[in-house]
Amino acid sequence: MSDSAVLISEVGPRDGLQNCAAAMPLAFKKRWIEAEAKAGVTEIEVGSFVSRRLLPQMADTGQVVEFARTIPGLVVAVLVPNMRGAEAAVAAGAHKITLPLSVSETHSLRNIRRTHDQVIDEARAIAEFLSGLPEGERPHFEGSLSTAFGCTLEGPIEEDSILRLAERLVEAGCDEVGLSDTTGYADPASVKKLIRAVRGVVGADKLQGVHLHNTRGLGLANALAAYEEGITTFDSSLGGLGGCPTAPGASGNIVTEDLVFMFESMGVSTGIDLEKLMACREIVAAGVPDEDLYGFLPRAGLPLGFVSSQT
Ligand code: ZN
Repeated sequence: MSDSAVLISEVGPRDGLQNCAAAMPLAFKKRWIEAEAKAGVTEIEVGSFVSRRLLPQMADTGQVVEFARTIPGLVVAVLVPNMRGAEAAVAAGAHKITLPLSVSETHSLRNIRRTHDQVIDEARAIAEFLSGLPEGERPHFEGSLSTAFGCTLEGPIEEDSILRLAERLVEAGCDEVGLSDTTGYADPASVKKLIRAVRGVVGADKLQGVHLHNTRGLGLANALAAYEEGITTFDSSLGGLGGCPTAPGASGNIVTEDLVFMFESMGVSTGIDLEKLMACREIVAAGVPDEDLYGFLPRAGLPLGFVSSQT
């Protein structure tokens, strides 16, 4: 990683594209990833190893990983739902793999037909598989606590049960846990409270990243709250790609351009060149022409006299 103060982890090629109706052609995925890396983005979640039948948008993830690995200095991350996905990720050469665990068991059963115990068993099996690999080929393994701030099926989830699941993921062998506001239910106070509580049980070094959505317009406020708690890794999506299927007009993930602008305006270095970052939108717009792109900064432009922390 660079000497930036925060790490912006671009998840558009995964979280954004999986919510788009059409699949982005492989050539556009490659151009996008390459252009964002050139803009200074050092970690990109490039896809997920899931069933082609369920998510045809992700069918070429193996090829995307192989290409992304050729970009010097880029950490290539992928999402995996199970052991099979982890094996495919390792075969392709991903540097980081994330296994989601929905803290709402109803959501977990509905989405992947697995109980919490079954997902924890899967995490343990993946960790064992990874520990058998030679050190240079062993990807970083994160367990992501999804629906952590509330679930559309169950509503709020008891904090104690979230903490127990965080502990169990670490015991199972995850290097790190992350907090995901999958549903866009979080607010700055709940973000701070849950970060403190989870860090209290697993240690601050085991929780460094948050994955926030902007469904109700609180994405950046939540990111700032997390930053103030000492979180250093922030997932976001270029152009807020993919939108929110249940809230028309709302972006999906927080918009990378706006997030980078917030930090750079505050003098917090991201290592990212905003002009080059915004230029990546053209590639995305051409690759999935029917999708809306979001973001305030790209529409309004940089303020007169804006000084990036890069210069
Ligand atoms: Zn997400």
